Amino acid sequence: MDRIDEIINRMSIEDKVSFCTGKNFWQTKDFEKYGIPSIFMCDGPLGLRKQELDADMLGVNDSRKATCFPAEVTTANSFNTDLLERIGVAFGEEAIDQGVDLVLGPGANIKRNPLCGRNFEYFSEDPYHAGKLAASFIRGIESKGVGSSLKHFAVNSQELSRFNSNGFIDERTLREMYLTAFEIAVKEGNPSTVMCSYPKLNDVHCSENKYLLTDILRNEWGFEGFVVTDWGAMADRIEGFKAGCDLNMPGGSKYMEKETIKALKEGILSEEDVNRSVRRILEFVFRAREKDISNNICDYEVHHKLSKEAAIEGAVLLKNEDKLLPLNKDERISVIGYMAKHMRYQGAGSSHINAYKLSEPLDNLSNYDYAEGYLKDGSTTDELIKEAIATAKKNDKVVIFAGLPERYESEGFDREEMSMPLGHLRMIEEVSKANPNTIVVLLCGSAVELPFKDNVKSILYMGLPGEAGGEAIKELLYGEANPSGRLCESWPIKYSDVPSSDIYRTQRDALYAEGIYLGYRYYDKVNKEVAYPFGHGLSYTTFKYSNLKVDGLKVSVDVSNTGETEGKEVVQLYVHNPQDSIHRPIRELKGFTKVSLKPNETKTVSFELDDRSFSIYDNGFKKVKGSYVILIADLKETVEVDGETIDLPEYQKDSFYETCKGKPSLSELEMACGRKYNKPVLKKGNFTMDDSVKDLKDHSLIMKIMYKATEMVIAKGFGGKVDYNNPEFVMMMESSAGSTLRSMEISGGMPPGVMKGMLDMANGHFFRGIFRMMGL
Ligand code: BGC
Repeated sequence: MDRIDEIINRMSIEDKVSFCTGKNFWQTKDFEKYGIPSIFMCDGPLGLRKQELDADMLGVNDSRKATCFPAEVTTANSFNTDLLERIGVAFGEEAIDQGVDLVLGPGANIKRNPLCGRNFEYFSEDPYHAGKLAASFIRGIESKGVGSSLKHFAVNSQELSRFNSNGFIDERTLREMYLTAFEIAVKEGNPSTVMCSYPKLNDVHCSENKYLLTDILRNEWGFEGFVVTDWGAMADRIEGFKAGCDLNMPGGSKYMEKETIKALKEGILSEEDVNRSVRRILEFVFRAREKDISNNICDYEVHHKLSKEAAIEGAVLLKNEDKLLPLNKDERISVIGYMAKHMRYQGAGSSHINAYKLSEPLDNLSNYDYAEGYLKDGSTTDELIKEAIATAKKNDKVVIFAGLPERYESEGFDREEMSMPLGHLRMIEEVSKANPNTIVVLLCGSAVELPFKDNVKSILYMGLPGEAGGEAIKELLYGEANPSGRLCESWPIKYSDVPSSDIYRTQRDALYAEGIYLGYRYYDKVNKEVAYPFGHGLSYTTFKYSNLKVDGLKVSVDVSNTGETEGKEVVQLYVHNPQDSIHRPIRELKGFTKVSLKPNETKTVSFELDDRSFSIYDNGFKKVKGSYVILIADLKETVEVDGETIDLPEYQKDSFYETCKGKPSLSELEMACGRKYNKPVLKKGNFTMDDSVKDLKDHSLIMKIMYKATEMVIAKGFGGKVDYNNPEFVMMMESSAGSTLRSMEISGGMPPGVMKGMLDMANGHFFRGIFRMMGL
């Protein structure tokens, strides 16, 4: 019998159940009598957010200083798996240095729609791309013996009602688009833990979803670690155990412990289910606490440099007319924009890092005239515009810093529109009129509309470049570094071009009606022009492709640097699918790699495809027979693939899925799902612990009072001001009044009777509620 079995044998049922809920916000429970130590977790994925004093899940209270790497939006644009792995290693080193055993990241959710408030934390609109990068990052962290937590599993692609939305999605879309990234990350990265998400997947909470957590994650993909809930995501603890959800976080509450013990005693829940969870957590706890850390070297200066390298690798040169960039070292330039002084370098929410060392763009530039152009909140004034125009005219070239201020983009809420702030737009318009040699450096975590695209000569997109962004921008502007990032999401011309624009954030539930047609899969199919496509990015040099060879599953191609500067090229391999049977995207990314080339240098790049490169999901992934084309840059080669013939689904003919014309409809989604969608109706008598105070405030007086009280309590931290213009305020409101009543018991420290009592009262059972609150 091994040590863990022996401990499990000695543990009482009560201790086992209690062990499966954390000790406090960040730690698991320790039990001296069984020799169990606790482990410490902290957020990623931009860096470590280790809170040693007041804890919270929104990045509001202080955390220890750590390297703030670029956000996923930028590291993903690098298309560089080695870089992601090295960043992972650096995370591991800092985690050991700060006594952290488990890093909560990376997030492998798909960028379904540009408005998602957390897009900056996710990798890609393409699941293959997201999966490969997530796997590399995980391998890096885990190589140091530190755990990673792949999150948020699954269907968590919107912030609206994130605590209680229901993802209504057909199986093929789920598997091909929303689970594939997790599958690759689990199989190739082998994370110690997976974090289940808040929403429901097809009516079942992810935290009690056996299909997701056991059938798919463990039985199909071979995951061997433990599943931790997102903070407050546990629904029914008993069902959670049965489904394979192991650790309930945050800790500190006794959420459903009594009920679980009763269920065990009555045989409704088997002790083996609980033992399994205890065993999985203990395996990690001992591995984490007993690893040898004596040789750990953690150099924050080295990591700062790595952060700069990542910002450079992820920078995307969207356009560069007349080779306006790079700038000449000796020329004086005009610099405009509040963000040149106060760069937006990271997102808001649980990923918020207390940066080790921040380098602002302006501090790294010299020989310039500067004007602010707009205010912190994104608005501008006539005075600022006048000054900006005058400054723009002083020199031959002007570099504008613009993008999205923090209040536009955050965990906890989605963006309301795809536009940049009007102040930024007005300033860019005026300055580009005053000076034709305008360069825009964009700082934002997701695609924005670019009405000024044709009026400026160069656009350098930095995403959210992390603490060393200022140094990276300077090196890129002056050609000391060559941009080599490529877009990991399509940039539509306007929001209404997005396939889900009519249905996204229009209601509490997430209806995945556009199916597999999101991002380039949609724009390709319907042949819609975009501002910049997925995979786009320029360089200061030029590349030429030749010699594409396809030999069975092996593909190779020669890439040459035909310019005068050393540079890196992202070689992207797409498979063009046959279009004559079951509906499929025109092309899909099935391989990518990054090569560094000196001028005149040529390298041969090789790929190995597999069955999945030609498969669709139809009761399992099946390789579909047909004529495919391998596409790399402008080269193509046709291959005949032997495989299965899939019957056309009944709903396909003339549907959105066949042509992608028009907008997807609920009835088509229902047909693809093979069942009707039931819209939740909030009605007195039917309210549940799954509703939030915010959901119920307009239906119940007690909830309205509770909402107002929450507003007042939160406002105290903001000088008494109820301020919905402040992203931190909104985020805190969303995470308290917007979280489910049951999760207020888990993370909000509310005694069980109180929330249930309030629910009774909201449902019209006033006295029952009072008695319940009094514990009677
Ligand atoms: C977020 C997670 C995060 C957790 C702990 C949650 O609200 O969704 O990404 O890891 O809080 O801070």
